[in-house]
Parts: sequence; C-alpha cells; structure tokens
Amino acid sequence: MTTTKTNRGPTDATVVPRYGGPSTFARLPRLDEVERTDVAIVGVPFDSGVSYRPGARFGPAHIRTSSKLLRNYNPVQDVEPFADQQVADAGDIACNPFDIQDAIKQIDEGVRGVLDTSSKLVTIGGDHTIALPLLRVMHEMHGEIAVVHFDAHLDTWDTYFGAPVTHGTPFRRASEEGLIDKTASMHVGIRGPLYSRQDLTDDQVLGFQVIGAHDMDDMGWRGAVEQIRARVGDRPTYVSLDIDVLDPAFAPGTGTPEAGGLTSRELLNILRSFGQLNLVGADIVEVAPAYDHAEITGVAAAHAAYELISAMAPKEAGAHV
Ligand code: MN
Ligand code: MN
Repeated sequence: MTTTKTNRGPTDATVVPRYGGPSTFARLPRLDEVERTDVAIVGVPFDSGVSYRPGARFGPAHIRTSSKLLRNYNPVQDVEPFADQQVADAGDIACNPFDIQDAIKQIDEGVRGVLDTSSKLVTIGGDHTIALPLLRVMHEMHGEIAVVHFDAHLDTWDTYFGAPVTHGTPFRRASEEGLIDKTASMHVGIRGPLYSRQDLTDDQVLGFQVIGAHDMDDMGWRGAVEQIRARVGDRPTYVSLDIDVLDPAFAPGTGTPEAGGLTSRELLNILRSFGQLNLVGADIVEVAPAYDHAEITGVAAAHAAYELISAMAPKEAGAHV
C-alpha cells in the first residue's frame, strides 16, 4: 500500500476549473504518471456483444466526462478514496469491434498489463461481454470469485444466434468455467419479462441467488445489504454493475432498459456498505451515451464508481456503514 503522503490525487479544482484540465476519471493522474497504483480505472470501449441498442463503446469517455465533479472526501463511507490509496486512470484497452474472440483476448491481455502496476481494477465499459475476460483474470489471481451482479437481466443465457460470448451470457460462461463461487454469487435488481420459467431454474443451478427489484420494496436497501453480506461473507468478491439495474428514470442511457428498477440512492447506499466486503475488482457496464439526457446516466455511473473506489480504500473497522 502506498502511503498517503506520496499519493497523487485529482487536479486541484481551485487552480484548474473542473470543466477544463485532464480528461481522466475524476481528473486523476494517468497510470503512467505514477509508479504504481492501488486502484486503476480502465476503460473498455467495446459493444459488439449487444443484442439490442448499441453504443456502450462510448461509455468510458462519457463516464469520465461525468466524473469531473467528484470530490476528495466521501462523508458516508468516511474515507478519502483518492488520498487513502493511490488511484490512477489506465486509459482504454483497444479492442477489435469486428471480432468478439479477438476483443476478449485483447481485454485479457490489457487487463493483465494494467495489473502489473495496480492491485485492483475498476473497469468502465463497454457492454457486459467484458465481464467474462475480467472474471477469468480475477479467478487466476484469487481463485473462485463471489460475484455480486447488479442488473435488470440475469445474463446467464446460453447463446444468441449461436454466439456463446455476448452481453447476455457472461455469467453462464463464468459459471461453466468454474470462475465463480457457486455458493456465494448473486444477482441484484433483476426484473422484467423472461423467456421462460426455466431461465430462473437454470440460473440457480449456475450458482446465483436473486434479489429481484420488486424485493426491494419489502426489504429495502438495508435488507439487500444484509442478504449480500450473508451470502458473500469475506470471500474475494467482484462487483459487476450493469447500469440498467437502475430504473430508466435514473439511467436512460443504456441498451436494454426495463421499467421498475432501483433508484440511484438505493444503489449507492448498497455500494457504500461494500467497504466491509473483500472487494477484488469491479466493473460498470452498459452506459450508452447516445440515449442519455443531461448526463443522468453518466453521473449515476460516475458516482457508483466513486462508491466502489471508496469501498476499496483501507479504513478502520467499523468506520463506515
Ligand atoms: Mn442488463
Ligand atoms: Mn448485463
């Protein structure tokens, strides 16, 4: 762990205005401007795995733009996420928009390259296809991973048009490959029509427990936090956050919107509790700016990233929610 004194934070907004200056996430230093980092932000501008609206390839740039207002102190988690640890922006991984398998290979190699100088990753996508290569790398580093997957959709379907690797299939492939801990993984925010009852049966066999969006009315975000903690424990945990877990009112800029989702406040409150989990990495995917208005989706994604980065920061036990 780098020390607080040597950590380089965002460009000072009292000297360089927020609408100018670096275009990195939260105006943080680039990875090549620091010796090593505790958390790297890496963009994966890939959306050739989508089944409906395209456009998440523009997600990384959009989320970075919407992150310019993020400030140093997180009062709810009581951490300074950019001072208590080094955070840096690793830029984007270049990946082939015409060949999914080639792109998967490039993401795999790109992520490994970033992890040479970073302990943890927060990846901004990109469509949900990118979770598969990320989980492969996480599994290699940490063994079986507890996945906490926020999404309107299960993403455990088998194939689309015969294609096994798409944005609707990463968690089935991850389960089949033995990457995830089947006793400790879950989906949060699932809703909307499915293809059949079988989808839920298959999903359970693949190792996921479900908190549906409709469950939130009764259990509230605190109930969701309790259930996640009980399921995940202190296992190495990866958070995969499809922005469509939010209601379209809070995240219109996405490829497969479904009515009746979480509010931003519910999601952020859940993420704020993750300082108590053993987080090894996270992604935020499916932000498609062409359908966004007034940066609503971008701001939600940037704040979700901020809470995840804060949850990764070293802190005194019990000093947070
Ligand atoms: Mn989804
Ligand atoms: Mn998804």
